[in-house]
Amino acid sequence: MENVDKNSLGSIVEPERRIDVIHETDVLVIGSGPGGLAAALAAARAGVEVTLVERFGCFGGNMTVVGVEGFAWYRHDKTVEADGIGREFEERAKEMGAAVPESQSQSYEIDAEGFKVVADRLVQEAGVYPMLHRLFVAPIMNGDTIGGIITESKAGREAILAKRVIDATGDADIAERAGAPTYLTPKERMMAVSVMFHLAGVDKKAFIEGVKADPQTYKDWDGGGEWSIETSGKEDDMFSPFLKKPFDQAIECGLIPPHLNTISGTWGAMHDTGELTYMNLIQMDGCDGTEPGDLTRFEIEGRRQSLLAIEALRRFTPGCANARLRNFGMSIGIRDTRKIDARYNMTEQDTREQGRFEDSIGIYPEFIDGYGLLILPTTGRYMHIPYRALLPKRIRNLLVAGRSIGGDRISHAATRNMSCCAVTGQGAGIAAALSIKTGRNLDTVDLADVQKELSRQGVRYL
Ligand SMILES: Cc1cc2nc3c(=O)[nH]c(=O)nc-3n(C[C@H](O)[C@H](O)[C@H](O)COP(=O)(O)OP(=O)(O)OC[C@H]3O[C@@H](n4cnc5c(N)ncnc54)[C@H](O)[C@@H]3O)c2cc1C
Repeated sequence: MENVDKNSLGSIVEPERRIDVIHETDVLVIGSGPGGLAAALAAARAGVEVTLVERFGCFGGNMTVVGVEGFAWYRHDKTVEADGIGREFEERAKEMGAAVPESQSQSYEIDAEGFKVVADRLVQEAGVYPMLHRLFVAPIMNGDTIGGIITESKAGREAILAKRVIDATGDADIAERAGAPTYLTPKERMMAVSVMFHLAGVDKKAFIEGVKADPQTYKDWDGGGEWSIETSGKEDDMFSPFLKKPFDQAIECGLIPPHLNTISGTWGAMHDTGELTYMNLIQMDGCDGTEPGDLTRFEIEGRRQSLLAIEALRRFTPGCANARLRNFGMSIGIRDTRKIDARYNMTEQDTREQGRFEDSIGIYPEFIDGYGLLILPTTGRYMHIPYRALLPKRIRNLLVAGRSIGGDRISHAATRNMSCCAVTGQGAGIAAALSIKTGRNLDTVDLADVQKELSRQGVRYL
């Protein structure tokens, strides 16, 4: 079939061309967020050659590119976790001075800038071959088997061949273009997108005194829009670094227009140096993260709203009178796009009722955050993550890790979290490596071997 016109300007036919193969590898991971980075490290540590392709100039995905620093903000006394590479991210960041105590939990907040260097170091130490500044544009297919990818970069169009491919793009870009069944959340039901920013020039003492004088709780999130939530009740009186009152005041005095009552959210860490980081305050509905036209509009709108928010903070938040914008994330933050229709799609029941699976590749605490639901893992409850949720239908030699694994809305509200993306990444990396070493397909890889290697790499899967 000819290209279908997307608009009235018609279409062109792109001529065929010969493309250089520039690299061959055992396991090829595309996307270097918590899912892809963990996948690459785990596969390399399981003893195969690994290549990590990333469209931007640093590894880390949302952590470094968007500025999402709250890696494990759910952690409390009784939280039970998989550990593994997710925990290692935090520990290495702490050792390298790239983490500070997180404001609402027992975890450490990862510094978005410092983690770029932490990720470089981890990649180099594991012997992963790094390929930054390359955008995946097309899969190389032999029937239903993927054998590599085509990238675009300043060097033009180039091919990379691989025995196994792990799609960690967050958007299931590879799975979708390879022809695996995927589904995109309808735009009106997608989670909001956010432009993230960090501030400098905040008076720490005055700010913390202000927080203590008027502490906010998770119940205060229930103010409408993205932050309207159902809890299990036990979260309601717990402290949350939540900010809404300054923006309500700004609306009252006419600084912020009333329709922007969506401006609210959390701050991450108040540094001794006067930086107030991970300002997750701009929540915008109606943006499809796979649609560049939407991304363009919402980047610009998000920056506009951020400046309004900063002005409101200056006027109405203790310690912020001299605050100034330090930086925006390099890119808008997208929470929710495509997911694969996997061999097993996780369910709300699995997530709320401690799902148990024989093909578990790691556990995840009962932490659900999204689609109007917030449950914190304060009881020791947890679920298994099944390997089959990483296996796309129809396409061979391909696994998916990170936020686009198979599952329904509520399961996604758990599995999208960065530490769970690291669990799926580590499982995918190990399974891909062992399938090569044992000459088995990804769907018949010996799960007992995978679990043995998970244990050796320090992952709890039962
Ligand atoms: C504003 C915001 C706040 C959030 N807050 C939290 C929080 O506090 N705690 C938490 O745990 N989670 C939070 N999340 C969710 C979490 O950040 C994501 O779900 C998680 O990062 C997904 O991990 P991932 O590895 O699947 O993908 P990502 O982190 O999105 O990484 C995907 C990587 O793939 C690369 N890539 C994409 N397409 C291509 C391509 N075609 N070619 C080459 N490279 C490509 C991207 O550049 C990126 O580096 C938040 C998300 C947002 C947007």
